Amino acid sequence: MKILIVEDARATLLVISSFVRNFGGHPIAVTTGELAIDAFSREQPDLILLDVVLPDIDGFEVARRIRALEKPGAWTPIIFLSARNADQDIDRGINAGGDDYLCKPISEAVLSAKIRAMQRIIQMRTSLVVLARELDTANQELKRLSASDGLTGIANRRFFDDYLSREWRRARRDNASIALLMCDVDNFKAYNDTYGHQAGDDCLRQIAQTLTHMMERASDVVTRYGGEEFAIILPDTPMEGAAVVSEKIRLAIEALSLPHAGSPQAFISISVGVAAMTPTPQSLLQTLIQSADRALYRAKSKGRNQVCCSGPDLDS
Ligand code: GH3
Ligand code: MG
Ligand code: MG
Ligand code: MG
Repeated sequence: MKILIVEDARATLLVISSFVRNFGGHPIAVTTGELAIDAFSREQPDLILLDVVLPDIDGFEVARRIRALEKPGAWTPIIFLSARNADQDIDRGINAGGDDYLCKPISEAVLSAKIRAMQRIIQMRTSLVVLARELDTANQELKRLSASDGLTGIANRRFFDDYLSREWRRARRDNASIALLMCDVDNFKAYNDTYGHQAGDDCLRQIAQTLTHMMERASDVVTRYGGEEFAIILPDTPMEGAAVVSEKIRLAIEALSLPHAGSPQAFISISVGVAAMTPTPQSLLQTLIQSADRALYRAKSKGRNQVCCSGPDLDS
């Protein structure tokens, strides 16, 4: 255990250093406040024994500066050792950031007992820090899991709801267009019936990966809306841009050339319904979703494997 001893009286410094050595500690001895602050930064001691009356800055000020230098969450115990034993001195010492205050002359037994007590607190604190870190990691993982879809690993419906309402509000504030793409795998029931549910799952995973890789902006998000439906949110995107992205992803799924004997096209395809809006204070988010849904329905009824954009007629 590295113990920084700050004491301007040489004789006392030697005595305390030998006490520290006696119980197996490693003393670092300094005689002024400024040297103490330097040694604290350089040596990173486990504990500090701090005199109050020093030739330059007093021990209270040293304690305050050391507390200010500590990294967030870090803590080095400070025990004041002083001949000044008035109640107010003890009060000031603790207020300045000290953890204990011993009155001189110091007995070896008392000093050793106080240091052992501090060691116990350090150990408890270290385990708490470790626990807090583990908890933090677990929470982050939980947060990630709660936003991701178990089958495909992409963002799930919960994430979709949060992200869309957030981006909708942002678009309204910025007077920007937001686009929504509803993508649905064509004749997917027949795919499951032909190749089995397992193959159906694999197919959904491949589609999810392909859609995700097609996104060019960090703000574009592909989510699994449910079943074999994927919803894509494109913030800051007008209808023309959204239509281009939609056609690109439709082609990308076609290019996978996944055989689908139960489909008229003989391969896996998707239909896409596109809607885009620049929300006003009167607009409803529901309108955007309904428009994309209706456009998707139209893409299906027009023969599937195609993109349909919602127009003013669909939004009314
Ligand atoms: P359409 O072209 O009109 O979209 O026809 P469809 O057969 O794709 O649509 P329908 O809604 O009739 O069927 C959707 C199918 O998607 C039915 C369901 O078994 C399948 N499906 C939904 N979720 C999953 C899943 O997680 N895994 C698998 N393997 N299949 C799924
Ligand atoms: Mg002194
Ligand atoms: Mg569907
Ligand atoms: Mg479908």
